[in-house]
Formats: sequence, structure tokens, C-alpha cells
Amino acid sequence: MPRIEITRDQCKGCELCVHACPQGILGMSKDINKKGYFFAQVVDAPRCIGCRMCAITCPDVAIAIGMHGTMYHYFTY
Ligand code: SF4
Ligand code: SF4
Repeated sequence: MPRIEITRDQCKGCELCVHACPQGILGMSKDINKKGYFFAQVVDAPRCIGCRMCAITCPDVAIAIGMHGTMYHYFTY
């Protein structure tokens, strides 16, 4: 199963990842992070297909996906 890592304090609560996920398995928390934003969280991890759309979409590089022993991190431009 893919591993989804969301760095909560890096999230600005834009919800882009929630809409990008084809499986609809990301949602927003009811708590706030250090920046004062509701952050993205995984609500149904077993249904993740490891497509990495969430990580690619996140403008703040708050998401990394682990697949087959490799962690995929993306970079700010
Ligand atoms: S890797 Fe794909 S399926 Fe998994 S949470 Fe991200 S967008 Fe959704
Ligand atoms: S796309 Fe990134 S910054 Fe926006 S809600 Fe998702 S994790 Fe947070």
C-alpha cells in the first residue's frame, strides 16, 4: 500500500489536493496547524493507488508519497 505523508504545518489549507485525488481519500481536518490553517489529512488510506496527483498538485510541497520503497518528494519552483 502507498504511504502518504502530509506535513501538516507546511499546509496552507487550499484544498487543491483534496480535489486532485481521483480516489477522493483526502479531506480537511477540523483542527488547525501552527500557521492557523485547517490542514489536509488522509481519511481513507487503504484506497490510495499511489498516483501522486496530490503531491504534484500541492503548491507548498506538503505531501510526499511512498511507493515500492521509494519516497517521492516534489520541489518548489
Ligand atoms: S497518491 Fe493519488 S490516490 Fe493516493 S492520496 Fe494522492 S492523489 Fe489520492
Ligand atoms: S494542496 Fe498542499 S497546501 Fe493545499 S491543502 Fe493540500 S496539502 Fe495543504
